[in-house]
Amino acid sequence: MKVNILGAGPAGLYLAILLKQSDRRHQVQVVERNAPDATFGFGVVFSEGSLDELERADYESYIAITESFASWNPLDVRYRGTLTRIRGNVFSGIAREELLRLLQDRADRLGVELVFEREVRSLDPYLDADLVVGADGANSLTRRTYADRFRPELGQHPAKYAWFGADFAFPVFTYIFKETRWGLFQAHCYPYAVDRSTMVVLISEATWRNAGLDEMSEQESLELTQAVFQDDLGEGRRMLGNRSLWINFPWISCASWHSGPVVIMGDAAHTAHFSIGSGTKLALEDAIALARALARWKDDREAALTEFEMERQPVVERLQEASRVSADYFASVQRYFRFQPPQFAYQLMTRTPRITHNNLTARDPQFVREFETWFAGGDGRLVAPPPAFTPLQLREVVLANRIVLTRTGQGAGLVVTSLVGVTPEGRIDPETVLVSDLAPSPTGRGRGGGEEVMISLGHAGARGAMRPRSLGLDLPLPEAERWPLVSASARAYAPWTPVPSEADPAPLIDQFVAAARRVRELGYRLLELDFSRGYLIDSFLLEDRLDFPLQLLEAVRDVWPADLPLGVACSSDSLEAVRAFKAAGVDLVRVLNGQRTWDARTEYGRMYGAAASDRVRNECGVQTIAFGQITTVDEVNTIVAAGRADLCMLDPL
Ligand SMILES: Cc1cc2nc3c(=O)[nH]c(=O)nc-3n(C[C@H](O)[C@H](O)[C@H](O)COP(=O)(O)OP(=O)(O)OC[C@H]3O[C@@H](n4cnc5c(N)ncnc54)[C@H](O)[C@@H]3O)c2cc1C
Repeated sequence: MKVNILGAGPAGLYLAILLKQSDRRHQVQVVERNAPDATFGFGVVFSEGSLDELERADYESYIAITESFASWNPLDVRYRGTLTRIRGNVFSGIAREELLRLLQDRADRLGVELVFEREVRSLDPYLDADLVVGADGANSLTRRTYADRFRPELGQHPAKYAWFGADFAFPVFTYIFKETRWGLFQAHCYPYAVDRSTMVVLISEATWRNAGLDEMSEQESLELTQAVFQDDLGEGRRMLGNRSLWINFPWISCASWHSGPVVIMGDAAHTAHFSIGSGTKLALEDAIALARALARWKDDREAALTEFEMERQPVVERLQEASRVSADYFASVQRYFRFQPPQFAYQLMTRTPRITHNNLTARDPQFVREFETWFAGGDGRLVAPPPAFTPLQLREVVLANRIVLTRTGQGAGLVVTSLVGVTPEGRIDPETVLVSDLAPSPTGRGRGGGEEVMISLGHAGARGAMRPRSLGLDLPLPEAERWPLVSASARAYAPWTPVPSEADPAPLIDQFVAAARRVRELGYRLLELDFSRGYLIDSFLLEDRLDFPLQLLEAVRDVWPADLPLGVACSSDSLEAVRAFKAAGVDLVRVLNGQRTWDARTEYGRMYGAAASDRVRNECGVQTIAFGQITTVDEVNTIVAAGRADLCMLDPL
């Protein structure tokens, strides 16, 4: 087989090695625009387990690479003048130049034809091969040439970053967060040789402008950045530049990676944000999968390329998703700057769903134990409950743990009811419980004196007069059985649901106030107002009419005892609204983003509601309940400990 590989980065070189290694008769040529020893950047880092596949694929290059590794296990977080160390994270670093040199040597010895200093300007001269591989990086000419077939989606992360080096080895992987008069500077630093480290520096676009970096030369930018981090570098130590320009990270994904004899791989096909350190790993694993598929489907190139794509696309998508979450975390990290150092470090470690409380405990039991002690009150005790089982005080009410369920008798710290209608017209369906139907509870707790119960008062608005939920969502009752509907304006919730009339706010406030009084008279100690999911009050919020929900809230707060907590269920779409609710005396926000409009599409996935709760909690400074595919106590521990929520609704399995 004749193979032309365009680009001698990790992807192209490693594929060439594997193809030659599987069959020496293959004619493999790699064309690279740069000289063999020219490279951008400094060192790359691999996380634990990244290289297992390399060991199996080509033992010789695996040994050469791992022998050149700088490896370390702890990770330092330098934040607000403090240092938190977390152990058990196995990382290895290697100079990119060294990695490429090792791969070039191995390829050369196997008989790969390496052509350096030749720019590929058109694919045409290379199409005479059985296979043409675009391993030409993020700005791939191959991808651009076949854009109509690969259908790339390109984007840019809003933050700026630049890749620097340092003239010494940081002792371990180190995150540095430095507040300056221009804004926050963050550095992700890792050693890759005895006297060298990589420093990837991230700043916001505003910081970049404030500091004047948009107008500085490369040398001036290096000097300014070094001055920012001089304390962390230590006296006399320097940062190094090598085409260290401030750019935005490019997001790349493609609907397809192959067409006829042409296939793309590595950064040409997909990028993953460097903050999870996986770009090189993905490039090398692509090479392994492609070489394996070609070996299996010897005479059927199309089958091989299809298999390659089917095997790799889902893996890449998962990592890309994790890297997006990680990139967004670093872009909004200032949100957490009121956190104490242990929680800040905990949040950083668990920023993507890949690491949970249990994983972190396995990595560094001492850190987690000390963290749990701090979380439970920080009084130096040796034994502390895990975060999910730490009590939570809301005004005078103390919840025994952080788990919220919808049924009593199951061991939750809090039980929240379904929407309880303030009036018969406010029901969702004939089965909706009315405030007048509620049973008294002298202790405010569920049957048997167990959990605290929070009554969720609401009015279904245009989503009322539906058939019971068990028959389907938003299916109107037969006309004869419907009751009159009201909403913020005379607009139906969905094209097939009845048109409501415009609501008169004044009597509604009276109805909510009367219902709140009734809830208290019955003995309940927690009350929530449902402003979510397109129901009546949310229909005002959807029209940006905050006045009425606020008046209603204030009126209810006035009659609800000052020593008892008041909650609101609402979406995270308007943080301004949440801040106003908080100012009006709301203690707890249950963040519910779904169903606001009939055609809203929620991105479901593991713990999907945690990010929205995180925004509300940490942008508005209010306690929250996270909701959305939280199914294990381990996940509750992680979300609560990281300060993404104070309570979690656990999905029944
Ligand atoms: C700041 C930063 C930090 C990173 N840190 C890490 C990390 O710690 N760990 C990690 O795993 N990954 C990291 N990465 C990602 C990593 O660098 C890439 O994902 C990886 O290099 C992709 O390999 P590749 O072979 O697909 O592409 P590249 O390494 O980009 O190689 C493409 C090659 O093609 C050549 N080429 C391009 N166009 C042409 C042309 N027209 N003609 C001839 N030759 C051409 C280029 O010169 C280049 O040599 C980081 C990336 C950045 C930006």
